[in-house]
Amino acid sequence: MNTSTSSPVLAVNLLDRTPADARQAVADWTRQRGLPAYRVNQIVRRLWRAPVASWSDATELPLALRAELEAAFPIPRLAVEVEQRSADGTRKYLWRLADAEAVESVLIPSGSRRTLCISSQAGCALRCAFCATGRMGFRRNLSAFEIAGQVRELVLRNPDDLPTNIVFMGMGEPLLNWPAVDAALTVLNAEDGFGIGARHITVSTVGILPGLAAFARRPEQFRLAISLHATTPEQRLALMPIEKKYDLEAVLAAAAAFRRRVTFEYVMIAGQNDRDADADRLAKLARRVGALVNILPLHPGGAPDLAPTSGERIRAFAARLRNQGIEATVRRSRGLDIDAACGQLRTRTEKAERAERMERGRRSS
Ligand code: SAH
Repeated sequence: MNTSTSSPVLAVNLLDRTPADARQAVADWTRQRGLPAYRVNQIVRRLWRAPVASWSDATELPLALRAELEAAFPIPRLAVEVEQRSADGTRKYLWRLADAEAVESVLIPSGSRRTLCISSQAGCALRCAFCATGRMGFRRNLSAFEIAGQVRELVLRNPDDLPTNIVFMGMGEPLLNWPAVDAALTVLNAEDGFGIGARHITVSTVGILPGLAAFARRPEQFRLAISLHATTPEQRLALMPIEKKYDLEAVLAAAAAFRRRVTFEYVMIAGQNDRDADADRLAKLARRVGALVNILPLHPGGAPDLAPTSGERIRAFAARLRNQGIEATVRRSRGLDIDAACGQLRTRTEKAERAERMERGRRSS
């Protein structure tokens, strides 16, 4: 028990909690201070729905209350380090975190949709052969506020940028950071949070089985995308080391057991997984699981040693899937001019920083 009134107040990060938990903490806090109950809604609204950069901006609240909120519930921020705009409207952000780690988000406008691709980890441990994030290795898990904060920062900059859709296709493997992703999903979806419909939120994974089981237990209609990329265990192992731990057959079984429609992601790599026989096997697997197929052109930045499949071959591959009754979509490569693929912006920034350090070193020696 805290018996001393002069002991320092422990600051609480409300943004790391679910909206319901944050509301409870705020309700307790206002009650202890004898504040009217309507303050709770006013305060909680400023966390996500109508976010403020700091409590001093919540001008509907008395000045003294704002100062107390600042002390009790300081609002942590992600600092925007780079914002790049592509000619096609795609925008890419590099966020600098408090401990100097950096993660990326990509905003992809398309008609009335605004899809935000968010990161769940700094770096990634999986080392898929084609992925730029894999190359940098694992740095650390993001906390819930750092995940949902990628949306919050966007809305703070411009409320009209609130995404209509979220995909966990930025840096990291979301199901290797389940507790934080679990809470972030609630923040993204809840009425008190960002209010984005569950069917508009997609978690993309290589198929981490314990995480998949936990995700499947969530009652909301969140979407699942599985990064398949290969149709035989041997092929998949050559591209994705995780095949050793969670093999193709086990991942397919988990996908089939998922109550909702699943999407397979399939990155096209010349000569590795793009032949007719691959399409035929993929069609069989997709039919078995009832999956849609998302065909991704290989983004060259992630894989200097792999060649992208030609556009013509990609179209033939997709047609072959459709001829076998599979719903297949070829993703347009967006933001090619701004390195808008997984991990590329951070990698680029670090290269530039290294080059600059070397240059400085040369000059001072
Ligand atoms: N770890 C999760 C989310 C990461 S990225 C997962 O693997 O699903 C989202 C998608 O982008 C994955 O399907 C990933 O395989 C794919 N991807 C990674 N690097 C790519 C590249 N260079 N070109 C095309 N797609 C890539």
